[in-house]
This record gives sequence, C-alpha cells and structure tokens, in this order.
Amino acid sequence: MCDDPGVADDEIAQPVPCARCKNGALLNMAGHCSDCIADMGLNHREEHATWRAELAELVKSGELTGA
Ligand SMILES: [Zn+2]
Repeated sequence: MCDDPGVADDEIAQPVPCARCKNGALLNMAGHCSDCIADMGLNHREEHATWRAELAELVKSGELTGA
C-alpha cells in the first residue's frame, strides 16, 4: 500500500545508495541493496551475518518494520 498521505510518492521512489556497491537501489535494507544481500548470502556468509544483525537492530529500534 502506498496511499499514506504523509509520504509523497517521489519520496518512496527515491533510490538509496547501497553501502556496499554504491549503486542506487529502490530496495535497500539496512544500507544494502538486494543484489548485495543475495551476494552476501551466497558468497560472504560472515558479511551477511553482520548485515542481519544490523537489520535486526534497525527493526528493534523501530526504524524498520518487519523484514
Ligand atoms: Zn549493493
């Protein structure tokens, strides 16, 4: 749902630069784009675990809801 009147459409669609590959991506979770998340999950297990921990912290602090 994208009908929240408090959030403009172009704010939702703003690409966020990935902390890892620096590419702007619409889907960005805890600073990482979906490509990097997939790459970490397959090839960089330790990095992926670190990212998961950061994501859990963001969810806990209320910056992100759900995952
Ligand atoms: Zn990336």
